[in-house]
Amino acid sequence: MTWPPSPADFARLRDTLVWVGEHSPYYRRVFAAAGVQPAALGGYDDFRSRVPRTSKPDLVENQRAHPPFGEFLAVPRDAIASLHTSPGPIYIPRLAEERGGTPVLVEAIAAMGVRPGEVAHVTLSYHIMPGGLRLHRAFEESGCLVINGGTGASRLQVEIARDYGATVYAGTPSFLAHLGDTAREMGLDPRRDLRYRLGFSTAESLTPALRRDLEATFGIELFDHIGEAQIGPVAGECRAHAGLHLHAGDLFCEFLDPETGAPVEAGAVGELVATHLGRRALPLVRYAPGDAYRFVPGECPCGNPAPRVVFVGQVGAIRKIKGVLVHPAQVHAVTSQFTELGRFQIVVERPAGQRHERARLRAGLRAAPADPAALGRALAERIKATVLIQMDVELVPESELPEAAGPPAFAEALVRR
Ligand SMILES: [Zn+2]
Repeated sequence: MTWPPSPADFARLRDTLVWVGEHSPYYRRVFAAAGVQPAALGGYDDFRSRVPRTSKPDLVENQRAHPPFGEFLAVPRDAIASLHTSPGPIYIPRLAEERGGTPVLVEAIAAMGVRPGEVAHVTLSYHIMPGGLRLHRAFEESGCLVINGGTGASRLQVEIARDYGATVYAGTPSFLAHLGDTAREMGLDPRRDLRYRLGFSTAESLTPALRRDLEATFGIELFDHIGEAQIGPVAGECRAHAGLHLHAGDLFCEFLDPETGAPVEAGAVGELVATHLGRRALPLVRYAPGDAYRFVPGECPCGNPAPRVVFVGQVGAIRKIKGVLVHPAQVHAVTSQFTELGRFQIVVERPAGQRHERARLRAGLRAAPADPAALGRALAERIKATVLIQMDVELVPESELPEAAGPPAFAEALVRR
C-alpha cells in the first residue's frame, strides 16, 4: 500500500470490512453501534473518522469475558488448525490455509540477499508465541535448510550452527551477542568457526552500537525487522539499511497523530493503527498496539517503492513540542552518540508575551567535555536534523536531572513550564 492510502488500497480494505462485519460477532456489534455499514463507506477519510479502533485491552477483556477467543472469532471453531498465544494472554487462532505473515517474511528474507540452499538458524522461541514457527516456515519457503534452534542451550546451539555451517542467523540481537560470548568460552573464534553472513534481527531494538559490535564479532550483515504478535510482521530492512520497508501485503497500515487522529506526513512521527486484510480466523480492524513510528522521507536507493519507517517507541511517551510530535527515544538516540552525555530533560516554555514555545534540552554530563561549546553546537545540530525542531542546549551535571527522565520509560524526560 501507499501512504496516504490510494483508492485501490481503500477498495481492498472495504472488501475486508464487509466480510468481517458479516462473520465477526464483535465487529458486527461495534459497526452497528457506530452506525457503520462497511459497504457504504465512501473513502479512507470516512473510514478513519467513523470506524472505532481496537485497543489491546479491548481484545484481552473480550477474550476473558468470552473465553477463549472472545467474540472476535470469525470462523467455526472446528475449522481452526493451530493456536498461538501472546502475552496477555491473547489467543490467536489460525486456519490451515491462512499463511499469516509468511509471504511478507519471505519477501523480507529475499530483500536481505538470502539464497536458496543457505542454512538458517532460527533462535526465536518456538514455545507458545508465534515468532519462531512463523520465521521457520518463511525460511523453509525461501528454500533454506532451517535449524529449529529455539531459545537457550547456547553451547549446543553454537555446536549445531558450526556443524551445519549455518550462514543465516534469525533471532534477537542480544542472543546473537550471547552466542558470540559462548563460542569464545568454548575456545572458538565466532568469525572463523561460525559462518553467519546475514542476520535477521527482531523482537528487540537493534541499536547502532550493538549492530557495530555484532558485525565486528561475526563478520555478519544485520537486517532489522519489526513484527507484532497480534498483527504479524510490520516492516523490514533492505540492503540499503536506510529505514524499514512496510510489508503491505496483508495489512492496511495507518500512521496517525496520537492527539488529533489525523494522518501524519513523511518525516513525522505517528501511531500505527493496523487492519488485517484477508485474515479469516481472527481478523482485527484498526488495531492499535500503542507503537509510534517515524516515516523516512524520499525514495529508497534499493528501488522498492514501499514506504519506509523507523520504530520510535511507545506512543504514551510522545509529546508535541513546537507543533511537532517528538518521542524522547528520538532524542535519546542522538544524545547516546556522545560518550560524555547521560540522561536528558526537555523543558518546554512559553515566555510571557510571546506566541511561540521555546524548547531547551538539558543534557546531563557524565564527564567533563574537552570543548563544551563545540559539544553544545554539535548536539543542537543533530537534534535539529533528527527531530526537526530547534532546541537550545544547556549542559548540566547528570545528577541534576531526575532518574525518571531516563530510558526506557522517559517518564520525566519532558516538562512544561
Ligand atoms: Zn530499500
